[in-house]
Amino acid sequence: MTTTTTITASFKKLRSGEWGITAKGNLPAAGLAGQYLRVEKKSGETNTVYVDRVLWTDGATAICTIATMPRTSEQKASPAPSGGGICDECERPRRGLVDASDSSGIPGRVCSQCAAMPASMRSFA
Ligand SMILES: [Zn+2]
Repeated sequence: MTTTTTITASFKKLRSGEWGITAKGNLPAAGLAGQYLRVEKKSGETNTVYVDRVLWTDGATAICTIATMPRTSEQKASPAPSGGGICDECERPRRGLVDASDSSGIPGRVCSQCAAMPASMRSFA
């Protein structure tokens, strides 16, 4: 017997302007909030996101907000220096990362150099 749930999730831009997900499939009865879900990008790559809140669900489909950083203190693998981290575009350690989205609308964090290029040029895959 397996406890793996079969859920497909995709990124969705919420009315608030933030990024969330639409999850479909075998949704856990206890709800999705606090769960980690694998989200498939249009490119076929997968991202793991933390479900923050379920905004709406009918039992088979759920629209959820996501948190980029888990609230629990368990997952403190490699704290990035404040304002710094790995650029999603050039994949180099940078300082002063800013929020940006790529040509598919996937949210990410990029360095000032990559932020200057048009979104249509970026790919976070
Ligand atoms: Zn960069």
